[in-house]
Amino acid sequence: MLPTPRLIAAAAIAVLTITAASCQMNDRNTTSGDTSAGSSGPVTLAVVNARVWTGDSTRPWADAMAIRGDRIAMVGSSAAVRKAAGNARVIDASGQMVVPGFIDSHVHFVAGGFRLSSVKLRDARTPAQFIERIKAFAATAPAGAWITGGDWDHEAWGGELPRRGWIDSVTPNNPVWVNRLDGHMSLANSAALKAANITRATKDIAGGSIVRDASGEPTGVVKDNAADIIDSVVPRAPAELEDRALDSAMTYVSAQGVTTVHQMGSWDDLAIFERAHKADRLRTRIYAAVPLPTWERLRDTVAARGRGDVWLRIGLLKGFVDGSLGSHTAAMLQPFTDAPKDTGLFVNTPESLYRWVSGADKAGLNITVHAIGDRAIRTQLDIFERVAKENGPRDRRFRMEHAQHIAPQDIPRFAQIGVIASMQPYHAIDDGRWADRVIGTERAKGTYAFRSLLDAGAMLAFGSDWFVAPPTPLEGIYAATTRRTIDDRNPGGWVPEQKITVEEALRAYTRGGAFASFEDKERGVLTTGALADFAIIDRDLTRVPVDQIRDARIVLTAVGGRVVYERKAPE
Ligand SMILES: [Zn+2]
Repeated sequence: MLPTPRLIAAAAIAVLTITAASCQMNDRNTTSGDTSAGSSGPVTLAVVNARVWTGDSTRPWADAMAIRGDRIAMVGSSAAVRKAAGNARVIDASGQMVVPGFIDSHVHFVAGGFRLSSVKLRDARTPAQFIERIKAFAATAPAGAWITGGDWDHEAWGGELPRRGWIDSVTPNNPVWVNRLDGHMSLANSAALKAANITRATKDIAGGSIVRDASGEPTGVVKDNAADIIDSVVPRAPAELEDRALDSAMTYVSAQGVTTVHQMGSWDDLAIFERAHKADRLRTRIYAAVPLPTWERLRDTVAARGRGDVWLRIGLLKGFVDGSLGSHTAAMLQPFTDAPKDTGLFVNTPESLYRWVSGADKAGLNITVHAIGDRAIRTQLDIFERVAKENGPRDRRFRMEHAQHIAPQDIPRFAQIGVIASMQPYHAIDDGRWADRVIGTERAKGTYAFRSLLDAGAMLAFGSDWFVAPPTPLEGIYAATTRRTIDDRNPGGWVPEQKITVEEALRAYTRGGAFASFEDKERGVLTTGALADFAIIDRDLTRVPVDQIRDARIVLTAVGGRVVYERKAPE
C-alpha cells in the first residue's frame, strides 16, 4: 500500500545515472554444487559451527561457509572452512542459525526512513492520546513545517474517524497531514486543507473521496486518490534530509536481517537511491519499482542505461487496482459486511490497467499490481491472463502485491497464469483483529491464503509493506506460521488452516523475493558463487516452538560479505 497511489510521476525529473559498466554484472553466471568458487584470492570472512539453512534444496543444511569478497567461496564443514579461512575473521556461531539475507519484497523505504523521526501515532489508543502526541510533536517542530507520517489507527479506539477539529487548536503554526497506518486515508488539519485549497466546494475525484460532516464541510479525512490534492502541495524535503532518511532506513532494516528490499515508490525515490549508490553509501540492495503509468519512461531509461547492478536494480513497474480493506476502499465482489451498500472502489479503470500492462509487457518490463479485494484480484488476473496470451510466452514473472482476499475459485489461477503472490504476513495478524467484522467470517477464510496458494503451486514472495507494518521478517515468519493476531485473541491462529511451515516462510522471505526480481541464481540462497548476503539468528527457527519465533533476535547481518549489523553483547 502506498500513502497515495500516484497516477502520474512527479513532475520533478530525476535523472538516472546507472553506468553501463555496472549493468554487466547482472548477467554474471553463478555456479553451485562446487565446494569452492572459481575466483582466487584469500578468504575474507568465515562462519563456522553454525546451523546454516542454505535455501538450496539439493543441500539444505551445512555447518560453515567461507566468503571471498562479496561472494560465497565455500559452503561445507567447519573443519574445511577453518582451514580455508587463513587470516580472515572467523565467526564462531556457537550453533546459531544462519540464513540467506532476508528479502523484503514490499517496502516504502524512504517514507519508512522519514517516519523513524516523525510523530508516532500507531499506538495511540484513544482520541485524547492521538491529540496529545500531535500537540507534543508540533511543539518541537519549526513554525510552518509540515507534520506528516503518523500511522494512526482509528480501529484502536473503536473506529471513529479523527477530525481536524481535534487538532487545530494544538497545531496553530503547522500544516498537519498524517496518514492512517495503511496509507489509504489521511487527516489534514485546517491549515493543510487551506494550503491545498480544499473547501466544501471541492469535488471528490475518481478513486478517492473527501470525507464531509453532516453540513457538507470537509472533516479533514481524505481517502485514496483525493490525497493527491494535498500531497501535491507538501513541499519536498531537502536532499540532505532524504539522504538521512535513507541511511536510517538501511540501518533499521539491517538490524532485522534484511539485505535486499523491493521498493514500491516513485522516480523521486529512485533518484535518492541513485545518489546514494554513486556515493557508495548503499548497505541494502534495492530493486526499485516506479509507477505503472510511467512505463514508457522506464522503457526509455532501461534502453539507455540498462537495469542496474547488484546494488540497485530497475525494470519493475507497480500499479494499483483498488484501495485497502481498513479504509473500505478494497474492491469486493459482494458488499462489505458492515457497509451493505458499499463494494469499495477501483483507483484505476480496468481499461487503463490493461493498456499499461499490455504496453509495459510488450516492452519487456516487469509488472506488479496492488490488489486487495476479490473483485480487484479477479480483474487483475484477467488482465494478466489476457496480456500473456496476446503477447506470447516469455519469462515475465507477473506479480500481485497483497493478494489479500482471493475468491476461492481464483486461487489456482496464480499458478496457472504464473503470478507471484507478493504478500505481507504481518498484515494478517494485524487485520485479523477486525477483518471478520468488515468482510464476515466466511469470506475471511480466503484471506491471506498462504497455505491454499502454496498447495495450488503458486510462488510466494514475502515482505512487510513498511512503513505500513514493521520491516521485521522474524515477526513475519511468526505471523505466517502461527496466525496469532497481535491482540492475541486467536491463540490457535486466525483462519488457522492457512498457516504454513517455518521453512516455507523462510523460502518466501528469501528465494521468493529473489525469484520475483530475476535474481534467484545469486541471492536468496547460500551456495558457492552466490552473493554473501546472510543473517545470523540467535536460535534455529526450525527447532523452537513457533510461538517463540518472535522472541528470536538477529545477531549479525552481512551484505556482500561486509558486516552491516552486529548485535552488541548483552552486558
Ligand atoms: Zn505498500
